[in-house]
Amino acid sequence: MIVILKANLDGKSPEYAQIIDYLAHKPNIRTRVHQEIGTQQTLTEIYLIGDTASLDKTEIESLPGVDRVVRVSEEYRILGRHKDDSRPSGFEYNGVKFSQDNLNVFAGLCAVDTPEHVELMLKALRDNGQVCTRMGAYKPRTNPYSFQGHGKDCLPWVFELAGKYGIKVIAMEITHDSHLDEIQEALRKTGNPTGVMLQIGTRNTQNFELLKIVGRQREFPVLLKRGFGITLEESLNAAEYLASAGNRNIVFGLRGMKTNMGDPHRNFVDFAHVPVVKRLTRMPVCIDPSHSVGTRDASPDGLLDVFHVTAQGVIAGANMILVDFHPAPAKALVDGPQALLLEELPYFLEDVAIARAAYEKRRELAKRFLAKK
Ligand code: PEP
Ligand code: MN
Repeated sequence: MIVILKANLDGKSPEYAQIIDYLAHKPNIRTRVHQEIGTQQTLTEIYLIGDTASLDKTEIESLPGVDRVVRVSEEYRILGRHKDDSRPSGFEYNGVKFSQDNLNVFAGLCAVDTPEHVELMLKALRDNGQVCTRMGAYKPRTNPYSFQGHGKDCLPWVFELAGKYGIKVIAMEITHDSHLDEIQEALRKTGNPTGVMLQIGTRNTQNFELLKIVGRQREFPVLLKRGFGITLEESLNAAEYLASAGNRNIVFGLRGMKTNMGDPHRNFVDFAHVPVVKRLTRMPVCIDPSHSVGTRDASPDGLLDVFHVTAQGVIAGANMILVDFHPAPAKALVDGPQALLLEELPYFLEDVAIARAAYEKRRELAKRFLAKK
């Protein structure tokens, strides 16, 4: 059960004390307080854990200072979409809004390689009106002899270049908690020219200790990729780990599932789950067409499979696209074969806009149909 307090209710007010006192007298109930401090208001939620079935929802709602009470099902207590749960979804980070209603494109390099390539990529993004990108500094590789990413050494110049080209958010994978410290330090030393969304990759979806550490910090939002060999429920519970540790600014990423059934794609594309994740939780949903498809193969209609699956995810309501580009894919140190070319960026964005407009039309159509019922 979640007790949602009136906005800006002071923790030292008599109303707050009365609520806490009321709950303290209920047997077998533990409480956990969560605060979201926004620019406009501070929202406080009290999570009740234990024998909540015996509690009287209406009685709690009548306490001064309580806005409303939501009964949560066992699943995804914090991130889940519960009955009569009208809490807003999404968040804002460094001036960029993330929600289940909008769409952000994160085109960029799978892995940072040279300053020249990074700068060419960022310039192309700026020239095409983009303020987000993806750039991997820490790369989890299947083969220990493969390039592992430049790590912390590249962070200062990557951040400075991102700032130079007006990039507000870089999705950057971390595989160890020390990477979080390194990112924080590099941002501080360079004067915060940009922002970072910490990415937890598919190989770390169930790295619970990493999830707890990343969840305990609230400076950076998190993109959690779905585990490629576990159930959706297990991956959503991994997201709940982040939230239960304190950070709810989470985007959930679909990136395809590992099975030969998906051949000839690198992974079996799972974007049919975009609306499912939006129904089960309040997280914005990201799609990663590059790691799903893994090639630049095209169909007879002239469209690359990466374009096709992107459109499939977007027309189903995806809220973020993580997509690999490279100025010279043959020279890329990671995932060159799936990278789109810089000259394809405006074409890709236009194709995305077509699919997004179609989704918005479909949403309006559904609204009209439901209003008649
Ligand atoms: C990536 O986005 O670079 C990546 C490694 O993704 P995933 O964890 O989905 O394989
Ligand atoms: Mn990659």
